[in-house]
Amino acid sequence: MGQNSTLILGSGIAGISAGYHLQKQGDSVVIYERENDWGGLCGNFTIDGFRFDKFVHFSFAPDDYTRNIFEESSPTFPHPPVSYNYWQGYWLKHPAQNNLHPLPVEEKVKIIEDFVNRPQKDVSQIENYEEWLRVQYGNYFAENFPFKYTRKYWGVEPEELETKWVGNRLHVSPLSEVLRGSYEEQAENFYYTKFMKYPKKGGFRSILNKCREGLDIRFNKEVVRINPNEKTIYFKDGTKTAYTRLISSLPLPEIVKMIENTPQKIKDAGANLMHTSGYMVSLGFKRPDVAKHLWFYIYDEDILPARVYSPNLKSSDNVPEGCSSLQAEIFFANSGAHENCPPLAGGPKSMILRRGFFNPQTPPEIILEKTIESLISMGLFKEDEIIVKDIRFEKYANVIFDKDIYKNRETVLDYLNKVGIESIGRFGKWEYMWTHQAFEDGRKVKNYAAR
Ligand SMILES: Cc1cc2nc3c(=O)[nH]c(=O)nc-3n(C[C@H](O)[C@H](O)[C@H](O)COP(=O)(O)OP(=O)(O)OC[C@H]3O[C@@H](n4cnc5c(N)ncnc54)[C@H](O)[C@@H]3O)c2cc1C
Repeated sequence: MGQNSTLILGSGIAGISAGYHLQKQGDSVVIYERENDWGGLCGNFTIDGFRFDKFVHFSFAPDDYTRNIFEESSPTFPHPPVSYNYWQGYWLKHPAQNNLHPLPVEEKVKIIEDFVNRPQKDVSQIENYEEWLRVQYGNYFAENFPFKYTRKYWGVEPEELETKWVGNRLHVSPLSEVLRGSYEEQAENFYYTKFMKYPKKGGFRSILNKCREGLDIRFNKEVVRINPNEKTIYFKDGTKTAYTRLISSLPLPEIVKMIENTPQKIKDAGANLMHTSGYMVSLGFKRPDVAKHLWFYIYDEDILPARVYSPNLKSSDNVPEGCSSLQAEIFFANSGAHENCPPLAGGPKSMILRRGFFNPQTPPEIILEKTIESLISMGLFKEDEIIVKDIRFEKYANVIFDKDIYKNRETVLDYLNKVGIESIGRFGKWEYMWTHQAFEDGRKVKNYAAR
């Protein structure tokens, strides 16, 4: 490494994008990655010919520049975003409140009655997500659908979340739509995007093939300590390297622990940033037709996964011929102040942040078996059709927008700015970023001369 060296920490989409765009402008860049492969959350793993992405992953980049780069990297399949909801044995097209027709009359009456009589409040006056849901949907639907899903997906009670993050993610229906959908399935797509793209070959991360080519990525290099005064980073393997410029896509709660002499106030702000951690239960089947839906949501709280999707419906390149596959996501709330890592990641910690329905200290093998049992009881497949089963853990899945997020995030980002570390990406900005947004964030980094 020469003296004028730009180092990027993390080879997820934000780190790859920053490296690609800086290199294109003439900077010399090296990326350091903890894992033995690139992609971060966009990455994948393969077991006996079954490829699984890490969580669901489709691309819906709205701007031409990003879309073209993704498409030049790998041709994609366009998928209409048609998904389903499973609720107490009923299958409802998404969004559920617009497609009530499979439900018993009594349920429909309660949902529609409460929708008509929902609390009236100006959205700008709403204080938390619970209230937002009640005002948008009416009490009965809110309590029986999104409240339950919030506990499963975010691991917290809806009243613990603020609302700025919601944006256009949820569809709010006029009464006519709700009524129409209570008689018959609605053909209209109410999803927040009209298209979702997925690479024909190589799994989701292939959208980055073009950018990844020509980048110097050093694998198995886990950063454990940073000295910003001496501009040196230290790795778990005992080596160190100097930098001129440091760009990090590491999660804020982790990087503040690594920087030497970080004041306690900053460490506390980092530890209080809440996020979800998640398990991926990945299943391969010897039958071609197990998956009926590209993805679906499960509201029942006695069934562990919040969402299930089919890698083989994303692309048949993800499975051996004549086979199919499913992956289920199970989340819980986590934070550095009450850190929970499962036995898979080195033994459960003593502190439990138990806000949702799920005990994070449940051993992974039990989670795997319980998930399989539930999916069998939903009629999706039979036990003897499974030929691959796997469970993996990701410590950082989604940023949780609790009421203290903005204050804590600002404290940490100000500090990183002060010690000269540029922070990018979903966990580096601590933001609800999709892949195209993390890509854009990496692209925004200015080249060395222009800073
Ligand atoms: C459940 C779920 C579903 C999603 N679905 C979609 C979707 O359908 N469409 C979409 O567009 N987006 C989706 N996203 C969002 C998308 O995954 C992220 O926005 C994006 O992948 C974030 O990229 P990143 O580079 O910022 O972070 P990451 O991918 O987390 O990259 C960070 C990198 O840093 C590395 N690292 C961490 N610690 C160290 C260390 N100490 N030393 C060295 N390296 C380290 C990590 O290994 C990783 O490679 C989803 C996310 C989740 C959780």
